[in-house]
Amino acid sequence: MNGDFLDDTVVDAGRLPDELGVEPGLRPISLKEFIGQDELRANLSVFLESARRRRKTLDHVLLTGPPGLGKTTLAHIIATEMGASIRVTSGPAIDRAGDLAAILSHVEPGDVLFIDEIHRVNRAIAEVLFPAMEDFSLDLMIGQGPGARSVRIDLPPFTLIGATTRAGLLTAPLRDRFGIVERLDYYPAHHLRDIAARAAERFQVAVDAEATDELSRRARGTPRVAIRLLRRILDFGVVERRERIDLSTTRMALDRLGVDLLGLDRLSRRYLQIIHANHGGGPVGLGTLAATLGEESDTIEETCEPFLLQIGLLERTARGRALTLKGREYATSIAG
Ligand code: ADP
Repeated sequence: MNGDFLDDTVVDAGRLPDELGVEPGLRPISLKEFIGQDELRANLSVFLESARRRRKTLDHVLLTGPPGLGKTTLAHIIATEMGASIRVTSGPAIDRAGDLAAILSHVEPGDVLFIDEIHRVNRAIAEVLFPAMEDFSLDLMIGQGPGARSVRIDLPPFTLIGATTRAGLLTAPLRDRFGIVERLDYYPAHHLRDIAARAAERFQVAVDAEATDELSRRARGTPRVAIRLLRRILDFGVVERRERIDLSTTRMALDRLGVDLLGLDRLSRRYLQIIHANHGGGPVGLGTLAATLGEESDTIEETCEPFLLQIGLLERTARGRALTLKGREYATSIAG
């Protein structure tokens, strides 16, 4: 088994600062180029085609799912497919209701407004958002004190696309205002392989099929992680003066990066070990686990558990979290 991670962030599905510059160039532009998520893609293409034929803006769209699976990419694709401009903001960036009113008052007919991490908008902001989504109108307060009055201005029709990793934190009134709600799931390895192969082409490097296969299996079902692993493997390839990236370079690089066969990070491994060693495999409550790990329950629920559930190492029971047989085997294998 590998040692601990040299760098945990290598398999973290969140966006690292240097990826802000790289990701836009790698984004598929059209729905056809978007790999995987077949059901979602089929549904969206019907909704887009229908909106285009009716010459209407697309209904508001909510995209949910873990980080790094393509929500931002899809928002850009939807705008492109509708021939629309996109304005991008995020829940945490909208501090005051006035900030949102300013954004909305600049929206042009047919525009897409993308709000990432929409579960982070507060109540005051949601109150501005509701009439804007429902009636395309904006209530503005003019003046202050006793002379203050409210004016309603009409907005052009636009499409709001909200993205969230925490669909459960969205209030029902907000969720209900989205006509289209789609969930992105972790990608199977063969789709990640295609995504990595496409990225390798963009980087203009030759990568053997066995090499993309190997990195895809260790990429936690997440395109962002697959692309990041590819970039790190290419670094090893450059330093080792390889003309093409083969399986042995890939394995060497992944081992050096401390990415194990399942692509788990240190937090996930400690999480599994604690359930195994301290709680006999579970069940154990999330609060207890979070306290032992010194992490927020939210972080564990959002970043660590979904993938462990997905790959069948963990199950959620009425009495808490428990390891599956596969989870016990894995925890035993990393204990030594
Ligand atoms: P999210 O918004 O869900 O965190 P992003 O849309 O920013 O994820 O995607 C992260 C990276 O993965 C981007 O570089 C993007 O181009 C790539 N990516 C995600 N999904 C796909 C896909 N289905 N096909 C090709 N590339 C993808």
